[in-house]
Amino acid sequence: MLDTTQRHKLLEQHFGFREFLEGQEHVIETILDGQDTLVIMPTGGGKSLCYQFPALALDGITVVVSPLIALMKDQVDALAEKKIPATFINSSLGQSEIDNRISRMQRGDYRLVYIAPERFKSERFIQALAPLSIALFAVDEAHCISQWGHDFRPDYIRLKWALKELGQPQVIALTATATPEVRADIVEQLALGKFGRTEPQIFVSGFARHNLHLAVSHVKGKAAKYQRIIETIRQYKTGIIYCSTRKNVEKVAEELGVKCIAYHGAMTPEQRTKAQTKFMNGDCDVAVATNAFGMGIDRADLRFVIHFDIPGSVEAYYQEAGRAGRDGEPARCEMLYNYADVRTQEFFIDGANPTREIIAGLYRVLLVLCRRGPITMSIDDIADQLPTVKNSMAVGSALHQLERAGFIAREYESGNRTYTTGLVEPVKAFEDLQIDFERLEGKRQRDLGKLHRIIAYADHRTCRHNFILDYFGDAEAAPRCVVCDNCLAHTNTAVRQPAEDETISIQKTLSCVARVNGRYGRARIAQTLTGSRSKEVVDARLDQLTTYGLLAAQGSDYVWALLDSLIRAGCIAVSTGEYPTLSLTELGRAVMLRQQTVPLTLPEIAAPKKKRAEKKAKVAEAVDYDVAVFEALKKWRRERAGRMGKPAYHVFPDKTLEELARVLPESPADLLEIRGIGPAKAMMFGQDALAVIAKQRSSA
Ligand code: ADP
Ligand code: ZN
Repeated sequence: MLDTTQRHKLLEQHFGFREFLEGQEHVIETILDGQDTLVIMPTGGGKSLCYQFPALALDGITVVVSPLIALMKDQVDALAEKKIPATFINSSLGQSEIDNRISRMQRGDYRLVYIAPERFKSERFIQALAPLSIALFAVDEAHCISQWGHDFRPDYIRLKWALKELGQPQVIALTATATPEVRADIVEQLALGKFGRTEPQIFVSGFARHNLHLAVSHVKGKAAKYQRIIETIRQYKTGIIYCSTRKNVEKVAEELGVKCIAYHGAMTPEQRTKAQTKFMNGDCDVAVATNAFGMGIDRADLRFVIHFDIPGSVEAYYQEAGRAGRDGEPARCEMLYNYADVRTQEFFIDGANPTREIIAGLYRVLLVLCRRGPITMSIDDIADQLPTVKNSMAVGSALHQLERAGFIAREYESGNRTYTTGLVEPVKAFEDLQIDFERLEGKRQRDLGKLHRIIAYADHRTCRHNFILDYFGDAEAAPRCVVCDNCLAHTNTAVRQPAEDETISIQKTLSCVARVNGRYGRARIAQTLTGSRSKEVVDARLDQLTTYGLLAAQGSDYVWALLDSLIRAGCIAVSTGEYPTLSLTELGRAVMLRQQTVPLTLPEIAAPKKKRAEKKAKVAEAVDYDVAVFEALKKWRRERAGRMGKPAYHVFPDKTLEELARVLPESPADLLEIRGIGPAKAMMFGQDALAVIAKQRSSA
């Protein structure tokens, strides 16, 4: 077994990483120790390394089952860049190519092979794999095996049987989202620790994301939501706005009036790819999307994720919100919460889980409609025949149940994009249909339970990070963080009299509000006080105000929280209307002039915030790298990534470009000194990068 030094050497050589991320080393040790393992880490937690690393160290091949067929080729290419021989087998290949790859597997040409789950339906395929020496069988997106999960895939059920045929190799199952019941199901369905394999080890880690500023804004209506979004885009620039429906996506995209892409499931694949590419390569920095947008979004520099509507579960929320700040820099995740929106989610749940009454009603309607043979009718038209059912989605789901139970057969006609629906002979009586109504009802209750938990999150009064860690069973919980709205504003739920330095901050804040009385909203005032150099501040000449930058050291989280407290205490009034602006009240004026004091719920200034403020101040003052070189590298990166059809960060992240522009390396050896550049990357991109730097410097 490898010792720590050897492990780090492998890590650096092949993956170009200096350290393991949280949890990775533990998992890898356990695997190298021969134990079955279940890894629960959020998206971006670094799950792939948990099997890619052992694949290098173990004797035999590592099989990776993954449903993300569209990403397989990318993954294999990325491994090739790291000098790790790998391949994939999925339905995009013809049989002869599949055979070819299998024989190369037998020859030992690959360390890893990615396989689509549906391949395991084929007995012949499994028999072809059986003679191989499989060191590790990795099941990615393992929650797909669970019927309790949100993404059940019947093909996954076959894996248990395939494992048996393959001689029960060691298994690692990985997922980003798993509630306790799904976890138990994964262990059960994959028979982890059974059949002579060792007791399974379960790891939950990486859910803590200290760089995410979690917040929930209770908003009254759409106008207030737009306002928050516009403020957020101005302040944070790059990010995603998630909506729960396609209609909202279109509305928000239209309403914002900023350059953005819209993305939802009803767009054609071409439209979606186009939008995604625009976002990924940085041509557009704001995406308005449904949850269809995300699989494979690997843009690490997102500074915000806003939820326009409450999502259906904490898992869904955290997965989507977690796409912000994957580079580890601060990012804001804000949910715009209006209790009325819960109705949309209830509607989805009703739609996905039809009741017995709906299924029975549909059964009767279809008996009549299809009496004379198959019908071609849209779901909406069929739903019209069931006047008591308001939710045509539920009719769609009920059709699906009746089809599965063998009462009807449906066929898609791609020509006119409709289904034909016909009765299956002999026609079954309703009582004879094998539909597990109890299970359906159970699922409905579970879905509702999940919705109630996300509502609880929205209403939560103490640390939001803790709420989430608790939800996922991640042991890393601290009493409170410094980056959620509640901790920032409410840890000190007791109102108290401000200390002297706080009084000064309050005076500064109030006088800034007084200066611009009634002309600007919270965001602009916070930006002014913290000395932001953003375009809108400069355009409005707010940087000329004497109050500009007075609270730069305290940071914007602090200033936002202080503004909130002053509003709650009645020192600042917020106008109603489309763009709420702030103005000073009589009380506020008296406090500003020290004629009166008021007790407030004052935010604490905690250490990391100060650090952040310093960091920000540094960026604002001086960039410590060669900007021209940086820009030249960026241009080169875009072209290079474009040619490879990859996101820009795939070549080098911004941080690495900055460091290149700071260090200005001249030789390949210098390159290896730079964070984020290992031998593999140096080989791929090193010469180019050196040339760009040299050229830029000689022309300067
Ligand atoms: P997941 O599968 O959990 O969503 P990935 O395996 O795709 O996550 O990893 C997420 C990101 O983290 C990738 O960009 C990957 O290159 C990076 N990463 C993984 N392990 C490390 C590490 N030890 N050090 C630095 N970056 C890492
Ligand atoms: Zn907190």
